[in-house]
Amino acid sequence: MKDLPARRLLLVHAHPDDESINNGATMARYAAEGVHVTLVTCTMGEEGEVIPGDLAHLAPDRDDRLGQHRVGELAAAMKELGVEDYRFLGGAGRFRDSGMMGLPQNRRPDAFWNTEVDEAAPYLVEVIRSVRPQVMITYDPQGGYGHPDHIQAHRVAMRSAELAAEPAFRRDLGDAHTIAKVYWNRVPRTVAEEGFARLRETAVGSFPGIADIGDIPGVVDDSEITAEIDGSAYAERKAAAMRAHATQIAVDGPFFALSNDLGQPIFTAEYYQLAAGEPGVPAGQRERDLFAGVAL
Ligand SMILES: [Zn+2]
Repeated sequence: MKDLPARRLLLVHAHPDDESINNGATMARYAAEGVHVTLVTCTMGEEGEVIPGDLAHLAPDRDDRLGQHRVGELAAAMKELGVEDYRFLGGAGRFRDSGMMGLPQNRRPDAFWNTEVDEAAPYLVEVIRSVRPQVMITYDPQGGYGHPDHIQAHRVAMRSAELAAEPAFRRDLGDAHTIAKVYWNRVPRTVAEEGFARLRETAVGSFPGIADIGDIPGVVDDSEITAEIDGSAYAERKAAAMRAHATQIAVDGPFFALSNDLGQPIFTAEYYQLAAGEPGVPAGQRERDLFAGVAL
């Protein structure tokens, strides 16, 4: 790919909707700043639960058409965020949503969780070597909250970054490329606590219940956060992108709920932990730009 913008950001996610919930403001901000933003989603989210009653027939135990529907939701969300380069790992439908941990769907032969990391990685290596991003965002080793596809997305992303940089690996997939910085999605504990406090004060009654801080993926002590992206100017875009994932997310003002109907705060600042590469600011400070210190 020639003529790409100087700054390039890659995000690796498990299902359509994860990108908007975790990184919607970051994606909108960088896209608006002219950064080339590439989203790779590993599955179509076929095993998700369906919130709107009139779409319940899409569910895997009925028509099993949820994946195709979510491809459309993802496209609508990307339009809201201004992101044009979004792809499915190996093409839409290559790897299937594995469902929650312990379900029999985990063992389907096409389940992402049931795929060897080194079988999935070359598809991402090809994207990395073609787009040549300086920054990659994915999940921490627990996948944020233990969903098999999120854990697997982490493994495939980290392995692919390693393989893409290895000149001897699959020369047919393009010239070796080293990603300068890899970040994991995080939420500082105090921010999560404040968000829930706000939710309890202002949104009582609008959701049947309120989620627990333990339901929020990637919550860690504040000291582990190395980067904070102020997305307040893009809060509306993020909420609109989340709303586009209507089978999965119900948005109500600055709050949202997944299919469990439990309210959660929408975070407009998004937080990261640098997992590989050199920080662009002195130790003890938080980066405000994921490209800080990257030679372009
Ligand atoms: Zn997910």
